[in-house]
Amino acid sequence: MAARRRRPRQRRMLTLTVQGRERVSPHFMSLTLGGEDFRHLEQSGYDQAGRLFFAGPGQDEVVLPSREKWMLQHTLQSAGRRPRVRSYSIRRFRPESSAFDIEVSLHEEHASAGPAAPGTAWALGAVPGDRVGFLDEGYCYMPTPGAAWQLLVGDESALPAILAILERSTDALPAEVFLEVPSGEDIRREVTAPAATRIHWLPRDEPSLRPGTLALRAVKDAELRPSPFYTWTAGESSLPTGVRRHLVGERGVPASDIAFRGYWKHGRAGL
Ligand SMILES: Cc1cc2nc3c(=O)[nH]c(=O)nc-3n(C[C@H](O)[C@H](O)[C@H](O)COP(=O)(O)OP(=O)(O)OC[C@H]3O[C@@H](n4cnc5c(N)ncnc54)[C@H](O)[C@@H]3O)c2cc1C
Repeated sequence: MAARRRRPRQRRMLTLTVQGRERVSPHFMSLTLGGEDFRHLEQSGYDQAGRLFFAGPGQDEVVLPSREKWMLQHTLQSAGRRPRVRSYSIRRFRPESSAFDIEVSLHEEHASAGPAAPGTAWALGAVPGDRVGFLDEGYCYMPTPGAAWQLLVGDESALPAILAILERSTDALPAEVFLEVPSGEDIRREVTAPAATRIHWLPRDEPSLRPGTLALRAVKDAELRPSPFYTWTAGESSLPTGVRRHLVGERGVPASDIAFRGYWKHGRAGL
């Protein structure tokens, strides 16, 4: 399931290195990726994301596909040489140091269960100097002209994109944000956002609760500001599809005013 996406006009596989790593909160790791190839990355939409290629367990080095159309090459590579691939949003550009940050949400219960969750395992173990590949996949956030405000809804996988959207939006587009996070300790106290923005932090604090449940319920119960507005929603796929179904079916919101994207699927590994 995917929203309308603007793909980069041109792109190439970027070879970058890990330049820094910082635990932001119990369930988030920030990683700075940079290097000479950064100059080939065009800064585009606010929720710009890409595929990250990294070494898996037992691999000393990441072997990057040489072609931009990498999928076939990836499939044909032997399991021992095949890099791991997961999608991450660009949280912040750092042009002064030819780098950008990503934030990985850590679901360690999967990472410790063996080969599952290589993205989480990689973020926990990455050290400065580690080589990675990054392939720009473009963006989906395209506010409808005439929108008076924006509704942003996500779980922890969408937190980096939502914070990037808020940081780059102007006061002309205040936001109502429903952001579900694994625990109260993951709530960010200082967020740069347009004036008149309201952020509803929704800590699950309950490991058995399926991600996205709280955010969907909160949107359904919310008294929203008057139309017209633009909606961007992402996370575990039941959340964005549920938000879209609710807004269109029960609030009469035009489907064309909603960008929705499943970032991951419960019980299924990503790519
Ligand atoms: C365009 C795009 C942008 C994205 N941006 C970000 C981002 O900035 N930060 C980020 O953290 N993620 C982001 N994601 C989501 C991320 O790619 C997936 O969550 C990915 O599956 C994580 O890989 P993994 O190796 O940790 O787990 P996987 O090996 O893919 O999955 C292992 C198990 O964990 C479950 N799982 C996967 N993700 C989560 C999760 N977040 N929480 C709980 N359980 C999970 C799966 O259902 C599966 O059962 C983005 C996805 C897309 C498509």
